[in-house]
Amino acid sequence: MIARSFQQIFAPELHGRLVWFNRLRWCAVAGLTLASLAGPPLGFPSVWPSLFVVASVVAAYNLLFLLVVRAQRLEHDPSTLCAIAFCQMVLDLAALMVTIHFTGGLQSPLMVFFAFHMVIGTIMITARWAYLLAGAASLGALLLLTAEARGVLGFHPLVPDSAFDITISRLNLLALIFGVFGIVYLADSVVRRLKRRSIELYEATDALSERTEELHRLLKEMKGVERRKSLYMRMSAHQLRSPLGTIRTVLRVLDKGFVDPATDQGRKMLAGAVDVTDSLLSVINDLLALAKMREGRKHAPWSRDVNLNQLLGDLLDSLAPDAEKRHVALVPDFKGVAVLGWGIPPDLVHAFENLIYNGIKYNLPDRSLTVELRIADEFAVIRVIDQGIGIPEDYLDQVFMEFVRAPNAKHHESEGTGLGLAIVKEVVESHGGTVSVESRTGEGSTFTVRLTLNHIPSEAERLLQTGNGGGYGAETGRRV
Ligand code: ADP
Repeated sequence: MIARSFQQIFAPELHGRLVWFNRLRWCAVAGLTLASLAGPPLGFPSVWPSLFVVASVVAAYNLLFLLVVRAQRLEHDPSTLCAIAFCQMVLDLAALMVTIHFTGGLQSPLMVFFAFHMVIGTIMITARWAYLLAGAASLGALLLLTAEARGVLGFHPLVPDSAFDITISRLNLLALIFGVFGIVYLADSVVRRLKRRSIELYEATDALSERTEELHRLLKEMKGVERRKSLYMRMSAHQLRSPLGTIRTVLRVLDKGFVDPATDQGRKMLAGAVDVTDSLLSVINDLLALAKMREGRKHAPWSRDVNLNQLLGDLLDSLAPDAEKRHVALVPDFKGVAVLGWGIPPDLVHAFENLIYNGIKYNLPDRSLTVELRIADEFAVIRVIDQGIGIPEDYLDQVFMEFVRAPNAKHHESEGTGLGLAIVKEVVESHGGTVSVESRTGEGSTFTVRLTLNHIPSEAERLLQTGNGGGYGAETGRRV
């Protein structure tokens, strides 16, 4: 958690206090105006019109600050807010000095307002500035006393005809100096303790809200996973239901004796049911393979030094009969020798078999399928390039998802689980690689697999301890 400074934590609060201070000042303006108007009839003639002028000036700058504070509403820049608060305190101090001057100088009963001013100052601004303010108040009072004593400024007694008493004024000055510094000290020690508590509280709240946010995020993720899981299960069930339905119908027809299994029609129906069973088995096998890979197998058969040239060469050999049947020419184009530091040979065979077989299956007769192998920096780049039906543009992003089959593929080849590319993606990513596709309908597709040559699986340490090793084919067998 990033520790926040006092100013950052309290900036919004300081803004709130400035607004409150602004309202308080309107009360002071009202008080001063009332005093200036009610003073003469009550026997205090010196307060009119001086206090009225002070009230007008205070009202004018209060209005100005109101606008400034409102403009700062969204920014909450702590240093600007502190500067605004300090300016207000200085102007208030000046207004208070003038008020004191016109209500009997240092003999004025309004001297008590210095105490209020200092307490408010300590709350609003930092202690350092509050002490400075106390110094300014003391110095202002001293200058006022000196100016009045020397006749530079006139003496305006609150009660008419009362004399200027230098001794009382000096005592009041001393009381004022002790008073303002004492008040700042006391108020500061209380405010400081409160601020420390508040910071602790804010930090605890921050930590709590961080945890809460994290929990919310995890909950959202879990809900997403749950949703995907249930969609996956629904799609899987759907994939299994229709072939099972077909098999059930065939068995029912034969069982009820509607068709004799010994007849040609019966044999045809049974052969059809066997085909459907085969495709059902291949869906189940693919689903199991995918689930096994995704479970993060603890004992995945990682091997050292997996030779991709050999693996791809063997695959091309084994798929040659399928290619021949469909009149597709297989073209190996290997440049360089790609050896993966670590790999799971059965999974790699499964993935590349899917890619190459798709290239044959979705190709057009008398076209070619090129399997290209290149070494680029620390990567083995394998491209499977066919000249077949291609993938419609709006399916390009989806074909790596389970059960997604483009309409042209379904039309071209009714057999298919829609799981092959999901397996490819899973295998490639478990090897720290990427797979992508470029395709144009009717022109062909290019699948590009990039595998890091020296990908180190997280299980590597354990595997090294158990002495697992050997190249492709040495201990893991060939095709699965
Ligand atoms: P399947 O081939 O069993 O349908 P895959 O997961 O292997 O499932 O492929 C998903 C879909 O991606 C296919 O149904 C097809 O629409 C598209 N596809 C994959 N490879 C090719 C290819 N080489 N040419 C055209 N379409 C392809």
